[in-house]
Amino acid sequence: MPNSYSAQLAARDLAVVWHPCTQMHDHETLPMTPIASAQGAWLTGHDGRRTLDAVSSWWTCLLGHRHPTIVAALKDQLDRLDHVMLAGFTHEPAIQLAEELVRIAPKPSATRKPAVIDPADTDTSRTLTRVFYADNGSSAVEVALKLSFHYWRNCGRGERTRFIALTGGYHGETLGALSVTDVALYRETYSPLLLAPIFAPSPDAYEGEPGESAADCAVRRLGELRSILERHAHETCAIIIEPLVQCAGGMRMHDASYLTGLRALCDEFDIHLIADEIAVGFGRTGTLFACEQGGIAPDFLCLSKGLTGGTLPLSAVLTTAHVFDAFYAEYSAGKAFLHSHSYTGNPLACRAALATLSVLRDEPVLERNRVLSAHLAAKLAPLIDHPNVADVRQTGMIAALELVRDKEMRAPFPAAERRGLRVYRHGLERGVLLRPLGNVVYFMPPYCITPDEIDLMVEVAIEGIAAATK
Ligand code: PMP
Repeated sequence: MPNSYSAQLAARDLAVVWHPCTQMHDHETLPMTPIASAQGAWLTGHDGRRTLDAVSSWWTCLLGHRHPTIVAALKDQLDRLDHVMLAGFTHEPAIQLAEELVRIAPKPSATRKPAVIDPADTDTSRTLTRVFYADNGSSAVEVALKLSFHYWRNCGRGERTRFIALTGGYHGETLGALSVTDVALYRETYSPLLLAPIFAPSPDAYEGEPGESAADCAVRRLGELRSILERHAHETCAIIIEPLVQCAGGMRMHDASYLTGLRALCDEFDIHLIADEIAVGFGRTGTLFACEQGGIAPDFLCLSKGLTGGTLPLSAVLTTAHVFDAFYAEYSAGKAFLHSHSYTGNPLACRAALATLSVLRDEPVLERNRVLSAHLAAKLAPLIDHPNVADVRQTGMIAALELVRDKEMRAPFPAAERRGLRVYRHGLERGVLLRPLGNVVYFMPPYCITPDEIDLMVEVAIEGIAAATK
C-alpha cells in the first residue's frame, strides 16, 4: 500500500473510477493527481503540492476557484431551497437568471433582413428573449438541435431534417451533439450511430491558403457555404458554429467577418443559426459574447461551462419569440416541446450563475482581461521563431501554439507520438496544468490569473515543448 495519503487516494481511485476522455491504461505510468482544495488559479493536493490551473478546469472556472461572491451565494441558497422540479414550479433564481441572460444576450443588428416576409416577423421577434435550461453543454446542444427541427415541423416544413456543421467543430459527446462534431478522435467510432450532417469547410485561418489573410479566408469559406446552401437549404434546419474559436478541435480561430456573413446567409436561405458559446461565452474572447464581434445575434445561443463560474453544472439555450411562438398552441395541437432533464434550472446552479454574472457586471473584468491578454501575447511572441511552432494565435483569453515536426511544410507530428502528452507530463511535474489538444498547446486561464502566473505558465509550456520536441 502506498504510504502518502495522496498516493493512497490515487490507488483507490484507479480501482473504482472510470475517468472521462482517458485511456485508463495510461495511468499505469501517468500519475493520478488527487486535489484537496482550490483557490483562485490554484489547485492544491493532499500533500500540499500546488498546481496552476492554466486551462480553467476544462474552461469552466471563469473567475478562479471558490470566488467569494459565488461561494456566499451558494451558501445562502443552500439554506433556502436545494432543488425543485421546473415543470409546473418555478423559483426566483431561475426567473432572475433568465431575465439577466435575456438582458445581456447579443442583440440582432438593426440592418438584418430575413428573406421571408412574414407580418409576425418583427425586429423584436428575432431578439433572444426566451431561456430553456438544461444541465450540461451537450444537453444544451441537443435542445437547440431538437428545437430547430421541431420549429420547422410545427411550421409545416417537416422535410427539413438536416444540420450543417463546420469541419473541425466540437459540440459535445451525446449522440446528437457528437453528430455535429467533426473531431475524428471522438466521432469516428460512433459514426454508425450518428445523424448525417453536411460539413461545410471551416474558416479556420490556420488552414487558409498560403499568404491568405484570415478575412480573405472567411470570404472564400462563405462562398463555399453559399453553394452548399444552394443545394441543401431546403432540407436544412440550422447551421451550428462555435463563434471565433473552434476550441476542442485545436483552438482554431477565424475572422469575425465570417459570423457577419454567416448570419446574412442564414437569413437569405431562411435557416436557423445556432451559436455554441459554451466555451467562448462570458468574456473569453474579449467581448461578453463572441457573436458581438460579428455584430450578430443567433436564433439559438447555447451557454454552459463558465455560466456558473465552474462551480455547478448548468446550461441554457436562449431563443427568440419567433421560435417560441411556433410551439405556443392548445395542447391538442401537439406542438409542445416536451424535452426535460431532472435537474433543469437547479436553484443552486442558477444562484451560482447569477453570482458569476454579477461579478462580470459589477467589476471591470473585461478591461482587466485586456491587460492580461496583452501580457500573454507579449510573452508568447518570441515563440513565433521556435523551430517546432508553426503558429502562435490568440483571441482574448485563449492562446494556442501549433507544434509541428516541420515548420516549413507545416507538417504535424504524427498523432501516435503523443507529443502533447509529454508537455502535459512536464507541466504536472512543474505544477502547471496544461492539457494540450493533440499537437496544440493552449492556455485558457481563469480571469484572476496574475501577470507573474502568466509568466510561470508560459515558461513551463516552453520547457515542456523543448522536452516534447527533442
Ligand atoms: N460545445 C462546446 C463548444 C464545448 O467546448 C463543449 C465542451 N468542451 C461542449 C459543447 C459540451 O459541453 P459538456 O462537456 O458540458 O457536455
